[in-house]
Amino acid sequence: MPAKTINDIVALCKRRGFIFTGSEIYGGLGGAYDYGPYGVELMKNIRNAWWNAMVYSRDDIEGLDAALISNRLLWKYSGHEAGFSDPLVECKKCGTRMRQDKMKDSKKCDACGSADLMEPRAYQLMMGLSIGATTDGATNAYLRPETATTTYTNFKNVLDSTPHKLPFGIVQIGKAFRNEISPRGFVFRMREFEQAELQYFVKPEEDEKYFDEWKNTRMAWWIEQLGIPADKLRFTPHEKLAHYAKAAIDIEYEFPDGFDEVEGIHNRQDFDLGSHTKSQKEFKINATVLENTDSITKLSFSDPQTGENFIPYVIETAMGVNRCMLAIMHNAYTDEDLGDEKSRIVLKLKPNLSPVKAAVIPLARNVPELLKTADKIVGDLRKLGIGRIELENSGNIGKNYRRHDEIGTPVCITVDHQSLEDKMVTLRHRDSMEQERVAIKDIQKKLLEIINK
Ligand code: ATP
Repeated sequence: MPAKTINDIVALCKRRGFIFTGSEIYGGLGGAYDYGPYGVELMKNIRNAWWNAMVYSRDDIEGLDAALISNRLLWKYSGHEAGFSDPLVECKKCGTRMRQDKMKDSKKCDACGSADLMEPRAYQLMMGLSIGATTDGATNAYLRPETATTTYTNFKNVLDSTPHKLPFGIVQIGKAFRNEISPRGFVFRMREFEQAELQYFVKPEEDEKYFDEWKNTRMAWWIEQLGIPADKLRFTPHEKLAHYAKAAIDIEYEFPDGFDEVEGIHNRQDFDLGSHTKSQKEFKINATVLENTDSITKLSFSDPQTGENFIPYVIETAMGVNRCMLAIMHNAYTDEDLGDEKSRIVLKLKPNLSPVKAAVIPLARNVPELLKTADKIVGDLRKLGIGRIELENSGNIGKNYRRHDEIGTPVCITVDHQSLEDKMVTLRHRDSMEQERVAIKDIQKKLLEIINK
């Protein structure tokens, strides 16, 4: 049985050290969460799966890690300072503030049902900062609300320092901050979250081709690399396009309350490089952009074949890493009936995503010979460099199995007295619960086979 509600996931996350409420001992802070020992591992494995696919498996994409705080002018010319807002509606009766486009019924308060609502007003989503000693607290910078803009402003730096021609892309994985009106759904909508975004720069006439290509590439990644079944994912095109977009489509995952966005794919035309470039008038910019009087760099591409100098179009793929983790956990969560009124909760993660790759368990606690053999196996497995290997020296094998089922460890390796004689150990597989005896000398090879499956 899968998780019935997100609360099943929330409880598992707290119980097993994946995610905790931010500032919990002081009552929490809306929209902020802290990732615990296994949460950081799962997030890291998602980032690695994404980076492997986007950077290491291709020749046309480079990585970038830009600052979280940036010159205010970035957010002026990107349009965020004037226009990155959500429509806020406030209930006159109970004071609840809601995002109008996410209300259950646009005429009634979500909390108390009252129809006595204030007119919607634009609510700025960027978090302002006051940087430096001379500001007296006035906002003079912002925490970035997305990674994309700092990728655009580095377009020329990356182009000039690498051998690329169009099409080529730049990716970033990193934190983004939005002053969301109503954070909700656990880590689904937070105020501090993480994005994994690609900006792919193309010739204007090739935009549709690459939009389609990226749409399909990204969907295939969700299915093949994360192991999410195709019927739990779907595409939903945007009904209303942002003013700069030529096309936009979301990848949605089926959460317990229905399908919802986990990634967006957008054809942003020449809006971004056109907004931030110097000498805008020299180029035929298709999108409507603010006149830029501050930029000191032309963000254009000179075609070596035709000699033409133009502003490339951008195809963007924007994934929320936290939402991705939530979807992965929801998909993997299984409440399994074992008969005889016994059950277990098991996280059936793809092994490459598992926070712990293997647990090594001496059958009895603190028996020096067992511990010595277990230690040697742990050391050998750690040398593989595939992630976390745990030694469990509690002597309670049932409890160990339960814990490792719940955190999704693909195999438990038990060292017993027999192992000291026949140099073999028992491998217990998480999903099937099947056990097999494996020679200690083959254990590295065996684990690699399981992880790379
Ligand atoms: P939404 O419509 O849900 O507010 P968006 O369309 O504004 O999201 P984008 O700006 O396209 O989102 O961001 C790309 C991805 O970043 C989203 O698909 C989502 O996975 C993630 N994301 C956006 N906002 C949040 C948030 N507040 N908390 C967690 N993840 C987020």
